Amino acid sequence: MIKKPDYTPTDREQAFLDTVEDTKHQREIVNGLKPFFDEKAPDDMLSFYTNDEVVSLKVLKGTERDVEKRMPVKITRHYFELAQKSEPIQRIVKPSAAETTDLTGSEDPGNQMDFSPVEGLLHKYEMGLMYVVSTCSAHCRFCYREELIARKEVERHDGTVAKKGLAKIPEITAYIREHNELVKANGGRHPDTGREKLREILLSGGDPMVLNNSKLAAWFGALAEADVESIRIGTKEMAFYPARFDDAFFAMLDSFHEAYPEVAMHFMLHFEHPDEILAKDDDGNYIEDEQGFLQWVPETGRAMRGLASRGWLSIQNQTPIIKDINDDPIALRTLQREFKRVGGENHYFFCGRDIVAYKAFNVPIETAWQALNESQKGLSGIENHARLSITHYKGKTEVAAVTNEPIPGLPGSENGVVIFKLLRNALSAPDRGKVCIVGRNPDAVWFDDYEDRVLFDEAGLFEYKRFTETGEAPATLASSMPRTDGGCR
Ligand code: SF4
Repeated sequence: MIKKPDYTPTDREQAFLDTVEDTKHQREIVNGLKPFFDEKAPDDMLSFYTNDEVVSLKVLKGTERDVEKRMPVKITRHYFELAQKSEPIQRIVKPSAAETTDLTGSEDPGNQMDFSPVEGLLHKYEMGLMYVVSTCSAHCRFCYREELIARKEVERHDGTVAKKGLAKIPEITAYIREHNELVKANGGRHPDTGREKLREILLSGGDPMVLNNSKLAAWFGALAEADVESIRIGTKEMAFYPARFDDAFFAMLDSFHEAYPEVAMHFMLHFEHPDEILAKDDDGNYIEDEQGFLQWVPETGRAMRGLASRGWLSIQNQTPIIKDINDDPIALRTLQREFKRVGGENHYFFCGRDIVAYKAFNVPIETAWQALNESQKGLSGIENHARLSITHYKGKTEVAAVTNEPIPGLPGSENGVVIFKLLRNALSAPDRGKVCIVGRNPDAVWFDDYEDRVLFDEAGLFEYKRFTETGEAPATLASSMPRTDGGCR
């Protein structure tokens, strides 16, 4: 039997952990559709589904098209209240029978498990992403972690099939230490993989902010002691339950910063639509103050100010562009302006990914680019930083431009072109900045839809080979790659 690594906090770590307090939170979550089917949900919430919706969802229960089998249903009271005045918000969390009409898609988008050397950790770039929990306070229908949240079995790199497990401190910190020691001893590169130091770790899931302060603090302290330079927290909790960002949480952050001032911290928030942050009047209009500034939902504004007032951490927003939710330049513009105004940065917008049933949620790549580009017209240089990303198996790729005119002398460009730019490889970094140019296809939702119109491909997006431990698998055409992208965080 293999002995599991032990973990004992250092004195410095323990001194930090001893300062942490937990708070009880009342998210008032309604879990699943049953409380609505059986009329057991709180009275004022029952009307969230019409009778017709209940009937159409009930009839699918237990069948292949059961919406909860694909992605569990969950909502907080806070989000329910926002949804009362917002159709986009309703669509984020409310299942519809139509979403399982076509169940095409990948159970493990991006072959994430190819990059998992330890249970619960994906090692990409100089960064590690950890699954620390398998749920969120509410669930988005378009979630690309549906396989984790729905506890589905997925195929591993070695061919075995199992549910994705969660990260554990002893195993993860042992892996980080071993990797980084080898890198250091070898002059800055891992002797086998050529990778650099594993210096950034993203706490993800599910949503790490559903964990209590003690558990979060245990991760922070352990990662800091493992010499991680930067910790990211990927969370949508500020949309679902902003009261989670309370005094005890901020005190824990401050205490961590006092103990480990050298470790950077980044909050990767996920706001999809301005209706998640802005207060509305009874007619559904955004409320302005006397000077014309838009008013935030009070709890959300408090949470943002709490983060933004701590200049040692950064706040970024990243979100996919999803059909009938935020494929709307006006909504995207408002979101970017407001987020920057209160001290956040607009990081990435993502093209939809190849989750199971992705056709119910994704907009074409060129449509997403047009929506974002249109939204950024009139934004200032510091408001319009966000890029549109679609993560190829090779790595994160920017949809850099879509043109309307032919390029003189270039056959295939008659209807304009799309220019992709590789931001980085998942395994290393040699190809950054290389581009791929394809003739336009307004219906394309993934690279294979451009396969017959590649004009220039120095980035090698159409010659992708799947990574294996012993090298690379036989050449794979873009068309045989599962469709995927980089993630809401
Ligand atoms: S918050 Fe993120 S991880 Fe959670 S359900 Fe929504 S998309 Fe999925």
